[in-house]
Amino acid sequence: MKTRGLLIVLSGPSGAGKGTVCASLRKRLPELVYSVSATTRPPRKGEVDGVNYFFKTKEEFERMIQQGELLEWARFVDNYYGTPRGFVEDRLNEGKDVLLEIEVQGARQVKERFPQGVFIFLLPPSMEELHSRLQGRGTETDEVLRERLEAAGEELAQVHHYDYVVVNDRVEDAYDRIRSILMAEHLKRERL
Ligand code: 5GP
Repeated sequence: MKTRGLLIVLSGPSGAGKGTVCASLRKRLPELVYSVSATTRPPRKGEVDGVNYFFKTKEEFERMIQQGELLEWARFVDNYYGTPRGFVEDRLNEGKDVLLEIEVQGARQVKERFPQGVFIFLLPPSMEELHSRLQGRGTETDEVLRERLEAAGEELAQVHHYDYVVVNDRVEDAYDRIRSILMAEHLKRERL
């Protein structure tokens, strides 16, 4: 039987640079499978349905919840976000490593179902940097920005639930740290 792949969860407050780090992981580790989430958030400029997210209406998302199609889901700043279950389970069963980039409430649900997963929390180098990254993004209204900053405080309080904390001072360094974590986790499992 094929060994199951690793389920890797990457969380961190908005502005920690998850998107950039994930893009780097996807580019440099093409064998790593990235799970595309469903969301009711409207697409940002340049986002493509099925690539960045599966963009859903509230009704469609609630139907997915009811039909048990989501591995986890959460409400974050007035929108739903969730991980399609079937895709993740199929890839893991094929022996592939799967990366979920999700917020903390969802990560806790995943931990209950996959305690053997690898849980990584990405931190910005400082709160000042987090503020300026969020503001510099320019994709959010002041109200959403304020809510995201508030959510960032709540997310940071959950850091102790994670196996690893990675500081994202430079994307290349954060990438190297995560790659080392994945190599160590693979070696650990091979020896079990
Ligand atoms: P954004 O709107 O900036 O793309 O994402 C907002 C937050 O939702 C981020 O913290 C992101 O990691 C999280 N997120 C994205 N997809 C999912 C998902 O499928 N489930 C959960 N629980 N959070 C998600």
